[in-house]
Amino acid sequence: MRAVGLDYRERRLITRDVAEPESPAGSQVLLRVREIGVCGTDRELAGFRLGFPPEGADFLVIGHEALAQVVETGPAVKHLRPGDWVAPMIRRPCHPPCPSCARGRPDLCFAPVLKERGIFGLDGYFAEYAVDEEADLARVPEELVDYAVLMEPLSVVEKAVATALRVHEPGCETALVLGAGPIGLLSALALQARGLRVWLHSAEPAGHPRAQLARAAGVEYLTVLAERLADVVIEATGSGDAALAGLRCLAPLGVMVVLGADNAYGEIPFRDLIVHNRTVFGSVNASPKAFVNAASDLGHFDKEILGRLIHRLPFGSFHESILGPPGRYSKLTHVIWD
Ligand SMILES: [Zn+2]
Ligand SMILES: [Zn+2]
Repeated sequence: MRAVGLDYRERRLITRDVAEPESPAGSQVLLRVREIGVCGTDRELAGFRLGFPPEGADFLVIGHEALAQVVETGPAVKHLRPGDWVAPMIRRPCHPPCPSCARGRPDLCFAPVLKERGIFGLDGYFAEYAVDEEADLARVPEELVDYAVLMEPLSVVEKAVATALRVHEPGCETALVLGAGPIGLLSALALQARGLRVWLHSAEPAGHPRAQLARAAGVEYLTVLAERLADVVIEATGSGDAALAGLRCLAPLGVMVVLGADNAYGEIPFRDLIVHNRTVFGSVNASPKAFVNAASDLGHFDKEILGRLIHRLPFGSFHESILGPPGRYSKLTHVIWD
């Protein structure tokens, strides 16, 4: 079957024929992959700045944002049936399990070397078929199939938003999102759905399609970070400088989540954090509960906005999506079959 991945000998992103997975055993499920979303992680992988292939292999199938359909189930599979739609969770538990993995939260794994499908040491889903454990698959309601390639990035947002709102004292009313990529836009939608007034600041000019999409969703788009304080700040830019700027936008009791920032050197206002009871935390990956919340939110978000967030491309056009310049659109998605 065809697969897209990294050749570690030639150090290139290529399409290659790989062996089809065998029939599922035990609690395994055989999946036919329908769509693959790409993101900044894939760009970093393709630049060989992140990730590594499975042990002993010189090729890593990429693709960690997948929508797939169940085609066959192992004898011990309890809930999934052929025809069901799923989105895989991508991190796998460490062995022997750390306390987090032991309680079913590999997203909070302590291990120094992590295992993530399509990124760290495990093949991803950018292929025609894949096999997974039932426990690693989140169910996608049939009516959400057109948008469900957003499940994985939205699950990251769900975990971050739920943690921020849990940490914040009562009286949380406003949110500032930094970055107008898919994670930023999905963060804005999730915060809005919880009744917060949301501002979104990003580097794109006011007429850029991403800025237009934010406004169409009812989010106020800021081209300059005016002196505006927010109860929740979500950093989704990849820029450490943007994260430092975000710290200065925290209201008293404010909570800031760092999702994408690179390291940066600048002043951290510790005294100010203390005096005004502000919190800053980092978040990565998602819990099974965050995937359930992602499916629920996808069901409630405006479908026209979600449709405009996704731009579909053919299977092999990764030169356009991963190796090309960042697009006008938000979530570039490869269609494996339709
Ligand atoms: Zn991603
Ligand atoms: Zn672990």
